[in-house]
Amino acid sequence: MSARTHNPEPARHRSLATKFFLFTAALLLWVVLVVVAYDVASGNVSIGKSLLLFAVVLLIAAGLAWITMRILVRPLQTLQAGLQAVREGRLERIRYRKSGDEIEFIARNFNQMVESLETKSKVIQENHEQLESRIRQRTEELETAMGNALAANKAKTEFLANMSHELRTPMNGFLGMIELVLDSPLQQEQRDQLITAQRSAHALLAILNDILDLSKIESGRMQLELVPFSVRTHLRDCVRPHQVRAQQNSIDLRLRVDDALPDMLVGDPLRLKQILNNLLSNAVKFTNNGHIDVRISGESGASPGSTMLTVSVRDTGAGIPSEKLSQIFEKFTQADGSISRRFGGSGLGLAITKHLVDLFQGTLSVTSQVGRGSEFIVRLPMGVAATGTWAVPSGEATAASAPASANALILIVEDNIVNQKVIKGLLQRKGYRMETAPDGSQALTMMDHYHFDAILMDVQMPVMDGHEATRRIRAMQRWREIPIIAMTAHAMSGDRERCLAAGMDAYLSKPVNSAELFSLLESYLGAGKMARAAGAPTPTVPEPIDPRIRDEVCEGDTALVGDVVNLFLQLAPERMDKLQRALTAGQCDLVAAEASVIRQSAQRIAATPVADRARRIAEAAGRQDQAAMRHSLLLLRSELDRLKRHAGELKNV
Ligand code: ADP
Repeated sequence: MSARTHNPEPARHRSLATKFFLFTAALLLWVVLVVVAYDVASGNVSIGKSLLLFAVVLLIAAGLAWITMRILVRPLQTLQAGLQAVREGRLERIRYRKSGDEIEFIARNFNQMVESLETKSKVIQENHEQLESRIRQRTEELETAMGNALAANKAKTEFLANMSHELRTPMNGFLGMIELVLDSPLQQEQRDQLITAQRSAHALLAILNDILDLSKIESGRMQLELVPFSVRTHLRDCVRPHQVRAQQNSIDLRLRVDDALPDMLVGDPLRLKQILNNLLSNAVKFTNNGHIDVRISGESGASPGSTMLTVSVRDTGAGIPSEKLSQIFEKFTQADGSISRRFGGSGLGLAITKHLVDLFQGTLSVTSQVGRGSEFIVRLPMGVAATGTWAVPSGEATAASAPASANALILIVEDNIVNQKVIKGLLQRKGYRMETAPDGSQALTMMDHYHFDAILMDVQMPVMDGHEATRRIRAMQRWREIPIIAMTAHAMSGDRERCLAAGMDAYLSKPVNSAELFSLLESYLGAGKMARAAGAPTPTVPEPIDPRIRDEVCEGDTALVGDVVNLFLQLAPERMDKLQRALTAGQCDLVAAEASVIRQSAQRIAATPVADRARRIAEAAGRQDQAAMRHSLLLLRSELDRLKRHAGELKNV
């Protein structure tokens, strides 16, 4: 109500009464002057009469002015004050006399106008309040909806993390087993069928990875690495498999790298490869004839030590209708469903590519003509590695490192039996020796008895997870340097950092890529060997048969030792069965008794480590410690396995 647009002019006007007074006085004075002039002309001048006339004139003028003031000016002043109040936002009525004239009419109308303004302003006020309360209500609703959306998004991310674990674990088994079977002698038809199965499993894994990547990006959890890498090597490696696929369709895929492009750049090579892979697989998929040109160049960046890496992928394929060009970067969108149905695709590739390019703070553009082809151009700002400033990342160093010792003993900590088998199969192929533990706690117990060269550690396990186990291992002086490689189906961002923070050295996501696994193991085992050669103490592993007793009792007769051990091993399964049954039934006395029988017979053949494990079971049974009994039983089994292998070696002597 205080919508003042300007300040009132200072009141320079003369009052109406003054004006009236001056006007009347001037008129009457003029009459008086005429009368006086007449008197002068007629020689009848009287000063007293003249003065009296002047006084009367002034009195009449003052009286008239006073009357004017009462009748006209006061009500007008009241009206003016009322208007002033309205202008200042105060809706006040004015008081007036019921004179029945125009002034009363104006005053009454003024009051009616104030009343109507009051009513309207009330309505406006009410509307305003209603609006405010609706805005408040809407804000609350939106806040609730946002909270729900955030909770749903968190649940979605958690679900994806879990789903990724659940799906990657069986995929790991699936792909690993296929790889193992493919390594065995097969008929050509079986091999072809298996290769088809392998291809399908890889395709499924690719979709799974795309969904996971997108969820990582959408939840803002994808971060780029900053490592030095050879851009030529990485991009050539990336282009090669696409060249093979293109050749199968008689398409020429040509790569041209600008000579001026510095070779060692600093950025995220994996994500760069992912961008190029997406563009290339589309180019190959959507090109039936002609060729595909990949051009890579760099322009000096705005700041020294940086370059704008430009990657162009141009094909002579199907092209994209102009109205679809803006949509192809949206997730699950395909310009031509029929082609995608024929060749597969989830419609996620370009959405991920666009997000990745944004993460690099780069640009992605496309030009296309239906029937003539498309060109995708990516421009990414990258650092140029100053020679000698950066360490070569472990991944690249591995290729040159020495092959792993065939005798290295690896501990596989993994609760999933299929995964255990797969990893064992892979390691066996390379000649590694290995032991397995189904959880972190049992791994720790085993580490008291063996000297392992490296540990492959699953993360999610019952009893004790991989993080906790790693922390405990690192707390032991003896194991401070052992390479621990996380091997997990947790593919969400942050998992790698958590594993490294717990003390692990490297991270492999499942399904484990065998080449990556061997390359990592070789690099770490090479480093470990070097460290040991430099003077680190090498803890000794007790031999399965005590050499002193063996030499004294059997007088060095290896064949005799072999016979005795075999006899013991033939009886062992039955004894182990009894022990297991007693343990399952929770009969600690019986467990102690059975364990003691095994201990005594093991001692008789000088199998000290086996006897030692059996003694520990008997001790745990005495304390009624179920967990310790189960741990020791597991160790006893693995010690029996070692004894069996040793017996095999004795036979071959
Ligand atoms: P997908 O290839 O899995 O369907 P993308 O997100 O990679 O998903 O691509 C989205 C769509 O963009 C494709 O389905 C296709 O219609 C179109 N497209 C992408 N690249 C090309 C290309 N080089 N030539 C023709 N069409 C393309």
